[in-house]
Amino acid sequence: MLPPSLKTLIDHLSRLPGLGQRSATRLAFYLIGQPPADLHGLAQAIKDLPAKIKHCPRCFNLTSNSELCAICTDKKRQQNIICVVEDILDIIPIERTRQFNGVYHVLGGLISPIDGLTPDKLRIKELIVRIKQFLAQKVQPEIILALNPTTEGDTTALYLEKLLKPSNAKITKLNRGLSTGSDLEYADETTLINALKYRH
Ligand SMILES: [Zn+2]
Repeated sequence: MLPPSLKTLIDHLSRLPGLGQRSATRLAFYLIGQPPADLHGLAQAIKDLPAKIKHCPRCFNLTSNSELCAICTDKKRQQNIICVVEDILDIIPIERTRQFNGVYHVLGGLISPIDGLTPDKLRIKELIVRIKQFLAQKVQPEIILALNPTTEGDTTALYLEKLLKPSNAKITKLNRGLSTGSDLEYADETTLINALKYRH
């Protein structure tokens, strides 16, 4: 009973996280009422994603070309202080605090053998390469493990600590003012500022 093009749109929307068939339908009807220019803008922005959004080859944050991201190329940042996070979304709350002057390394997940996420599936090799480059220059890197306080987060932190221990890199963790089970993404700013400041 719905026009095919509307049905196609609803199908696509309902595959987005958090949107079921009902909310996808509601969203599609909302879009019908929007000015054509807005719809074209939205469509174009989505269309541009595959070609214009890339991963930084060093830290795996997002960048708009295949070159290093804005954080990795920022001369004012200390390149040897590397904050290790699970995914790109975790960078946003840390950046919002404006208290962190180092760079990042996005693992792309946490160790979870049940889900098939073994250490080799994460960007751990790439982290080791970065650490070795500093050590070769006689610069001591500091690795801040800013992983979510969940079982997977703890497992990953433990794994990395053991792996990195012989390397002579300084390894610190966010202070557990962050309550157990709470996501970095949803941590409030003061908590996060303290977690960074009192890292140990
Ligand atoms: Zn980068």
